[in-house]
Amino acid sequence: MQITPPIPFNEEQRLATLQSLCLLDTPPDASLDLITELAAKLFNVPISLISLIDHGRQWFKSKTGLSVAETHRNQAFCAYAIHSLRPVVVLDTHDDPRFSEHPLVLGYPHIRFYAGIPLIMDEEIGIGTLCIIGTEPKAHFSSDELNTLAHLATMVVQRIETLQSIGYTDQPTGLPNRSRFIEDIEHWRQASAAADTKHIAFSVDICGRDYFYGMVQSLGLEYANGFLTHVANTLKEQFAPLPLYRIDTTSFAIIDTSLTEQDIARISQALGHVFSQSIHYNGIPHLAILSIGYTYLAAHSSAKQLIGALSTAADNARKAGQVSKCFDSMQGYLQQRSFEILATLPHALSQHNQLSLLYQPKVDLHSRQCFGVEALLRWNHASLGNISPSEFIPLAEETALIRRITHWVLRSAFSQLRDWVEDGTRMVVSINISAKDIEDEEFVDRLSSMLSEYSINPAWVELEFTETAISRSTHSIQQQLEKISQLGLKISIDDFGAGYSNLNYLKDIPASTLKIDQSFIKQLPSSAKDMKIVPSLIHLGHDLGFTILAEGIETQEIFELLRNIGCNQGQGYWFSKPLPPSQIKPWMQAQAAVPCTY
Ligand code: C2E
Ligand code: CA
Ligand code: CA
Repeated sequence: MQITPPIPFNEEQRLATLQSLCLLDTPPDASLDLITELAAKLFNVPISLISLIDHGRQWFKSKTGLSVAETHRNQAFCAYAIHSLRPVVVLDTHDDPRFSEHPLVLGYPHIRFYAGIPLIMDEEIGIGTLCIIGTEPKAHFSSDELNTLAHLATMVVQRIETLQSIGYTDQPTGLPNRSRFIEDIEHWRQASAAADTKHIAFSVDICGRDYFYGMVQSLGLEYANGFLTHVANTLKEQFAPLPLYRIDTTSFAIIDTSLTEQDIARISQALGHVFSQSIHYNGIPHLAILSIGYTYLAAHSSAKQLIGALSTAADNARKAGQVSKCFDSMQGYLQQRSFEILATLPHALSQHNQLSLLYQPKVDLHSRQCFGVEALLRWNHASLGNISPSEFIPLAEETALIRRITHWVLRSAFSQLRDWVEDGTRMVVSINISAKDIEDEEFVDRLSSMLSEYSINPAWVELEFTETAISRSTHSIQQQLEKISQLGLKISIDDFGAGYSNLNYLKDIPASTLKIDQSFIKQLPSSAKDMKIVPSLIHLGHDLGFTILAEGIETQEIFELLRNIGCNQGQGYWFSKPLPPSQIKPWMQAQAAVPCTY
């Protein structure tokens, strides 16, 4: 007959404490594993366990020498120790009526000897035991041996307290925090590689940071933290028994081996349902705007990368107006590439062999003569090969690096221009300037001192600003442009027609040239719309006093058409691709021999 272990008098409080420790169903902990390995070795037994006594089961947080993860609580030797809060030693199970017919004695793992020390937390709460198990009976277990085992159990309790401490626990919610998630993911990564399991990590963003920060501002931090804890408890119930982590301001996560994509869809739907009504906290209703991201553990080489992927997927779900989205690995690849580009750009800027400028001739459509060149940046990356400026400039524009790039380009172009002036090659060099540069109030002063440093006549320099950069027409941008113009530099408006519909800004801009965007030029004359738009842009520009340059001229037919409808200047592959500086003079000499066509 099997005897059922007794239930402690404070069972409810005991279970609440155990739950709050966030230990159940978490991955192995290296320090705790070390203690059970040590115990098994010291006492020369095959098995040592850290057993946590949950509601109907005992779950092993660490297990040396045993393959099962949990057993029924009725089978737990350790349940006796948390009842008495005293060590339990059974020298021979065959002689003990409580255990002689126990299934773990009669069957695997054939327990004959058992010694367990209760793990006692604050307020005399026993959550489980550190125990050693032998398959042979023992004649005696000395008080020294018991003391050693008790000492190891104290180390277990201390480790559990450390895991609970500030470093691993999120303060307002009491959930395991991001650091704990990162550590646990690393464990799962190693475990899943060995066992070939498919872990899915899953994150729920409850309302987005902006909503939360708004709540903090209007209702105070204490209220907002209370709201978060309230939401965390609701989520915890939904995911139990899986541990829930708080990984970001408003994001919670779980990780599991057994979820399928169908499960995710089901969970997303269930969560959507739970949070479809407003969340009432202290009498105030809040609307949850759930976004769920998920990704496979195996797709990431580090825990940090996985967390980034979860947040990207959840952001994408929110932007797409969907509840959940899987992390897109193509996007992951692009993010990684962007990261590499930005991380290596400072090095490239300090070297002489990675960045260079090519120069594309600009031609007067009537005389066919070259009057200037546009400097275009090239990057031959050490490992990624040639990277287009269309890829790295927009990335750099999101960071402070764009200013360093512009600085590099200005210096390099001025140095080249000085060489050309010295050998008698006369032409205007155009340089692309980003919106971020013109927002910098010191830009014009730096430009001015660089012109003096290289002894450059400002009349030989043109700055190209895209329409979107300057069309916002703020007072300070307008002032900066005026200052540039007063220095004597030319200004042109790049990609004209491509981005901005309100032409009001053209009235006061101190620019001299409009560069019609290539997208209007390339399909001439087959596009009936472009055949209407381009002449109107030219007439409008002329009426406002601008010179008009067409970009992207790829054929003689387009060149002739543009010239015939009054376009002044052109640039494009049909004249020349961007060239290294050494080829510019020979190209100009060859071009000078081309007969004037008008
Ligand atoms: P953008 O300023 O509009 O420059 C014109 C782009 O069109 C250049 O591409 C040029 O090589 C290309 N192009 C010229 N003629 C033709 C043609 O006939 N057909 C076609 N298909 N393309 C033509 P690139 O050099 O790849 O530069 C792309 C963009 O990157 C530039 O567009 C500009 O926005 C940016 N960029 C390049 N260099 C710099 C720089 O030094 N600073 C900044 N801020 N941006 C730069
Ligand atoms: Ca340009
Ligand atoms: Ca352009």
